[in-house]
Amino acid sequence: YGDFSQKIDYVFKVVLIGDSAVGKSQLLARFSRNEFSLESKATIGVEFQTRTLVIDHKTVKAQIWDTAGQERYRAVTSAYYRGAVGALLVYDMTKRQTFDHAAKWLEELRGHADKNLVIMLIGNKSDLGTLRAVPTEDAKEFAQKEKLFFMETSALEATNVETAFLSVLTEIYRIIS
Ligand code: GDP
Ligand code: MG
Repeated sequence: YGDFSQKIDYVFKVVLIGDSAVGKSQLLARFSRNEFSLESKATIGVEFQTRTLVIDHKTVKAQIWDTAGQERYRAVTSAYYRGAVGALLVYDMTKRQTFDHAAKWLEELRGHADKNLVIMLIGNKSDLGTLRAVPTEDAKEFAQKEKLFFMETSALEATNVETAFLSVLTEIYRIIS
């Protein structure tokens, strides 16, 4: 950090997908800047955020792409997926419908992206546990069937956010190195 001559060994493109309002942008804000906002508006403009970290003594630049609100119009383009080596498929654990849509997102993702893509299913908003509409077991079962990693997170409380991103990045590193 702060060393402009720092050599980057790898750049990993990771995409965020899932229904609108599940918390994709806030998960990214938490991971890239350790920030959170309850009044986050539909994402506009920013294409991606980066964070540079060290994995196994190598400098890895994670380039995390956000959907820029396109998920509302089912207009996520193939350019969005191009070159991605990882994906976080996010649903809101308090909204069953967002979990039911995961299969559709997965189909779209697999239709566009690399074969070796590392995918993590994320049940976000675990701080709202009393409003839970998706049992952990249902999500685990789906993840197992589809060979996805799975984790429940809270962007608000910063629970498992770091772990989720780092698990995906470490697994990508393991595959390509
Ligand atoms: P996106 O459309 O998937 O990018 O969703 P946003 O990141 O914009 O979040 C949608 C709404 O959910 C915002 O009001 C966020 O503040 C809220 N939100 C996001 N993550 C969490 C979380 O972990 N817990 C709670 N309680 N609210 C969250
Ligand atoms: Mg967003």
